[in-house]
Amino acid sequence: MFENTVFGRLDQKLQHAIKDAGYETPTPIQEKAIPYLLDGRDLIGCAQTGTGKTAAFMLPILNHLVRVRRPRRIGHPRALVLSPTRELAVQTAENVKRYSKYAELPFACLIGGVSQYGQVKDIKKGAETVVACPGRLIDLMNQGILYLDQVECFVLDEADRMLDMGFLPDIRRIISKLPKSRQSLFFSATMPPPVLKLAGELVHDPASVTISPETPTVEKINQKVMFVAKSHGTGLSSSRRCATARTAS
Ligand code: AMP
Repeated sequence: MFENTVFGRLDQKLQHAIKDAGYETPTPIQEKAIPYLLDGRDLIGCAQTGTGKTAAFMLPILNHLVRVRRPRRIGHPRALVLSPTRELAVQTAENVKRYSKYAELPFACLIGGVSQYGQVKDIKKGAETVVACPGRLIDLMNQGILYLDQVECFVLDEADRMLDMGFLPDIRRIISKLPKSRQSLFFSATMPPPVLKLAGELVHDPASVTISPETPTVEKINQKVMFVAKSHGTGLSSSRRCATARTAS
C-alpha cells in the first residue's frame, strides 16, 4: 500500500487505518523517526505539535503491540504516553483510536478534571496503551488500579512544557516505577539545559531527530489576532481581550 515510504514497514492493519485517515506520504519527522523506532531505538525528538509527531511515535509503538502480542494483564499497560495537558492527552488518544481501528488494541486516556469512572473501566477492559497526564496517572497508581511494571514503550511528550508546569517531581516518580528495560522516547519543542538533563536521565543511546519549526503541517492554517469587547472575551484579566481566529487556507 505504502511500499515506497516508511509507512510500508508498518503492519497492514495500521496501513489501512492511516490510509483511511487520508495520509498519503509521511511527514519529515515520520520519515526520520519511524525507522529508528521500528528498530527499537530510544529517541530524542525536537519537534513541535503540528509536524505529525504523534503519528511518528504512536505508529511504531502500535506496530510493536500488534506484532508482539502478550497475554493481557489488567492494570498493566505495555505503552505509556505522558502529556502535560488534558487537551494534548485527548488529542493523542484520539489518534491512538484512529490508528488502531483495525487492530485490537484497547487504550485508556487518563486526565484530571473529570470522573475517574470511565477511565478505570477502560483500564479494567485491558488497556494496552495509556495516554495520561501526570496527576491522574499517579492518583490511579496510588489507588492500586494501575501499575507501570510492564511498560515496554514510554513517551514523554512536550517535555519543555512539563517542566514549565512544575511536573518534574511527578515525572521522576513515574520514571522510577518503569522497568529498566524499555524503549524511551523524549519529545520537546525546545531543548534548554534542564530539558536536556531530563532527557539524559531517561533515554539510553538515543537516536536524535530535529524538525525545524519552519515546516509544521499547520502552516496551512491562517492565524489572526483580534481585539474584542470585554463582554466577548476569553476570561483573561486584561480589559481588552485577545482572541485568535484559525481558518484553513
Ligand atoms: P501532530 O503534530 O501529531 O499534532 O499532527 C498534526 C496534524 O497532522 C494532525 O491533524 C495529523 O492527523 C496530521 N498528520 C499527521 N501525519 C500526517 C501525514 N503523514 N499526512 C497528512 N496529515 C498528517
